Amino acid sequence: MAMNCKPIPTIDERINDIRMRTAEIVNEDILPNELRLWATRQEGESMEHRREVLALRAEIREKVKKAGLWAPHLPKEYGGMGLDFLAHAYMNEVLAYAVGAASLFGVVAPNSGNQSILVKYGTEEQKERFLLPLIDGTMESGFSMTEPHNPGSDPRSLTTTAVRDDGQWVINGHKWFTSNGIDADFFIVMCRALDEGARPAKGDPMVQIIVPTATRGVEIVRGIGIWGRRESDHCEVRYSDVRVPLENMLGHVGDGHQAAQDRLGAGRIYHCMNSVGQMWRAFDLMVERARSREVHGGLLKDKQFIQGFIADSYMDIQASRLMTLHAAEKIDQGLQGARTDISAIKVFVPNAYSRVVDRAIQVWGAAGISNDLPLAQMYLGARTLRIADGPDEVHRVLIAKNVLGQYSKGEGWDFGN
Ligand SMILES: Cc1cc2nc3c(=O)[nH]c(=O)nc-3n(C[C@H](O)[C@H](O)[C@H](O)COP(=O)(O)OP(=O)(O)OC[C@H]3O[C@@H](n4cnc5c(N)ncnc54)[C@H](O)[C@@H]3O)c2cc1C
Repeated sequence: MAMNCKPIPTIDERINDIRMRTAEIVNEDILPNELRLWATRQEGESMEHRREVLALRAEIREKVKKAGLWAPHLPKEYGGMGLDFLAHAYMNEVLAYAVGAASLFGVVAPNSGNQSILVKYGTEEQKERFLLPLIDGTMESGFSMTEPHNPGSDPRSLTTTAVRDDGQWVINGHKWFTSNGIDADFFIVMCRALDEGARPAKGDPMVQIIVPTATRGVEIVRGIGIWGRRESDHCEVRYSDVRVPLENMLGHVGDGHQAAQDRLGAGRIYHCMNSVGQMWRAFDLMVERARSREVHGGLLKDKQFIQGFIADSYMDIQASRLMTLHAAEKIDQGLQGARTDISAIKVFVPNAYSRVVDRAIQVWGAAGISNDLPLAQMYLGARTLRIADGPDEVHRVLIAKNVLGQYSKGEGWDFGN
C-alpha cells in the first residue's frame, strides 16, 4: 500500500512541497523495492546480484539529491537542505514510512550526529578532512562513548583517558556498542582529559577526539551479536596507547559533555521522527490486513478486539506525532529549553511504537513475525530504542527533576510554552 500523504492546510507551502516530493520517492522508488534493497546477504548470493542492489541504492540516492531532498539536518553550505527541526520532523515522518529510507536521504545515525558535531565544533581543517567526505559518502564514522564496565546511563562515569604527550593525545580505554564500527573510517571518542600520571576521577573534564580507525592501537574486538544474531555492526573496541595529533580534539578540553548532549539531543528527536513514520506504516499494514482477513466467519475489521487495536494505535500515533512536532518546535527555540520535551518523547514515542507494532504483528498472526513484512524488524528496533541514547528511566528522572525544579522556584509548569 502506498503512503497516503496529502498537503497539510496549516503549514507553509514549502514544507508541503518537500513532503509531497518525499512521498513520491518513497512510494515510487523505495516501497516497491523494499525487500530487495535491504535483504541481508544470502549465502551463495552472487556478486552480480549484490552489485545490482548497491546500484539501485545509489540510483535512489542520486534521485533524492537531484530532488534537493538530501541531508535535511545539514546546513546548505555543507550540501544539506538547511531545514530547522520542525520542518525536518514534517519531512522525516514521510521518509521513515519506508524501512531504511533514512540512509537513502543521507540522514542516518551515527553519521548524522557526527556530522552535526563536526559542523558545530570542528575546525576548518577537521571539516575538510572528515566532515566533507562523511557528507559525500566516501567516509563512514562511529561515536564511541559507552563502556562495558561503566554505566552508559551516567556518562560521567566513563574511564577512557586521553593524556597529552609530545604534541599528541594518548588514548587508553575500552568501549562497546560503537555503532557502524565495522565500516567506520574514524570514530569520535569520548575521553577524560588527564594530566600525565593522574588517576581518572569523576570531575575530570571530558573531551571528544577524532580517531581514524586505522590508527595503531585501535582494535575492533568484535561486532557484538544482538537479538540472537551472531554479529552486528555495534562494535566492541579497545584503545591501547592510541596516538593522534592534539589537533584531532573537537572544540576545547571540557566541551566533551556538552558536545555529547548536543549530539544526543538531536539524535533522540531523529529517532522519534523515524518512529512516527514507522508507526504510520505499521498502522497501514494492520488496518489493511484487518480489512481483508476472514476469521471465524467474518472479517477481522468487524471484531471489537481488532477495532480496539485500531483505535488504541491511532491514539498512540497521534500523541507521538504531536509530541514530536512540539519538541522539534521547541528545539528550534533553543536546545536547553527543550530538554524536558526531548526526554518526554524519548520515553513516550518508542513505547508507543512498540505497542503499535505489537498490535500489527498480532493482527497478521504468524505472517507478522515473518521476514515477508517489516514488522519483526520494527519490533526489535522499537524495543532497542528504549535503551539506546539513554534508557527510559534516565529520561523519566530528568523530566521529574526539571518539573520539581520549576515548582521549587515557586512557579507551576507552563504547558503552553
Ligand atoms: C543498538 C544500540 C546502539 C548503540 N549505539 C551506541 C553508539 O553508537 N555509541 C555509544 O557510545 N553507545 C551506543 N549505545 C549504548 C547506549 O547508549 C547505552 O546502552 C545506554 O546509554 C545505556 O547504558 P548501559 O547499556 O551501560 O546501561 P546501564 O547504564 O548499565 O543501565 C542499565 C539499566 O539501568 C536502569 N537505570 C539506569 N539509570 C537509572 C536510574 N537513575 N534509575 C533507575 N533505573 C536506572 C535502566 O533500566 C537501564 O536500562 C548503543 C546501544 C544500543 C542498544
